[in-house]
Amino acid sequence: MAGIAITRSRIYAVPSFLPSREALCRPGASGPYRSPRPAAPRSAMLVYIHVPFCRSRCRYCAFHSLPLGPASPDASPQVAAYRTCLLRELDLWAARLGRRPVESVFFGGGTPSLLPPDFQGAVLERIDRHFHLAAGAEISMEANPESLLARRAVDGYLAAGVNRISLGVQSLDDALLSRLGRPHRRADVLRAVDHLRAAGCRNLGLDLMWGLPGQDVAHWLGTLEEALRLEPEHISAYGLTLESGTPLEREHAAGRLALPEEGAQERMFLEGIRLLAAHGLEQYEISNYARPGFCSRHNLGYWTGADYLGLGPAATSTLDGRRWTDTPDQMRWQADIDAGRPDHDAEAITPHIRLEERLMLALRTCAGFELAEYTTLSGRDFEADHGRWARGLERAGLARTAGGRLALTPRGLLVSNAVVADLFERLDELGL
Ligand code: SF4
Repeated sequence: MAGIAITRSRIYAVPSFLPSREALCRPGASGPYRSPRPAAPRSAMLVYIHVPFCRSRCRYCAFHSLPLGPASPDASPQVAAYRTCLLRELDLWAARLGRRPVESVFFGGGTPSLLPPDFQGAVLERIDRHFHLAAGAEISMEANPESLLARRAVDGYLAAGVNRISLGVQSLDDALLSRLGRPHRRADVLRAVDHLRAAGCRNLGLDLMWGLPGQDVAHWLGTLEEALRLEPEHISAYGLTLESGTPLEREHAAGRLALPEEGAQERMFLEGIRLLAAHGLEQYEISNYARPGFCSRHNLGYWTGADYLGLGPAATSTLDGRRWTDTPDQMRWQADIDAGRPDHDAEAITPHIRLEERLMLALRTCAGFELAEYTTLSGRDFEADHGRWARGLERAGLARTAGGRLALTPRGLLVSNAVVADLFERLDELGL
């Protein structure tokens, strides 16, 4: 699992409508959290908590996480040290930032649901005490199905303040789950969903993967139909990526792994969009689909350029024009916190980086890129600089412009990397 959506880099998706962020984020996704307070002012930030532990290592995964094996996390000195240090990192940032407003908290990893609910409760209590946690803040947690098999644990997470669950399903086919090295099976998914609903979870996302070994289009659409029968508020659908150094990548390099051919993968992507839309889950980002009011406000914050504070080994922060990434090495991370300098390698986000990032991230979303933002960021006019280029994309059916925004069409999604690369070249030629 990942805090920020990772997908096949060549696939970007945009449906035919262009909703505003406000329309995507109507309230209703999350219940109130603790003390009711006025809405957060504009300097709000998002908080991401990286939990770098997993039960075992999935065969496609290149994320930063340590496999703990079958032992209880409570028995792990590394977990104990992590918990203590994470709270210290929170204290450190509170001292620097004061009571800065927090709009959302996201527990990602790794497998946050590997840690018992008192961890999430302690972190949320500390955030609530130090910062200004907005009324109705979205509190998301990534969870693996096998860690939600006990109803008591599910009740505990919700009681701790988690109000949105992103369940790492990936597939409902036991043979594929085994091939991927996932620690759960289909029956675990069904049981976890039952527990979550019975416990009162009203904002449930299912994370799925397509383009899996031996999978065809009908199999993928069948997976989606089965997932839809669980009535999730949100679905994330990521294409399998063969990351360097993973067991699946080595199998592929050795000729022992057959992936669906490109044409089949394109159909999985495009027909998936249509199927989900027909069931009321509209795509709002390349890999993300939601019922009205249930988009991930936290992830939309990333894609719309919000400030975020990342805590934990390997977590990235972007705050007040600076960016840094905590070291992935737990011992060094602890030493950095002890020394009060987790951001010692922070870099300034230059106007060039900011412009490129805003273009790239906005073009991942269905709302697309707001052309006026180009002027704000560059002091230039998008139409004068790129109008003919954009109209060429429109004539080719790859993009559309409406309401002062440029967004890619479903066909444009399939070549989006090339589109973005082309745009970056144009920026370079303009000296931006
Ligand atoms: S659960 Fe699997 S995919 Fe997710 S972070 Fe852990 S090892 Fe990686």
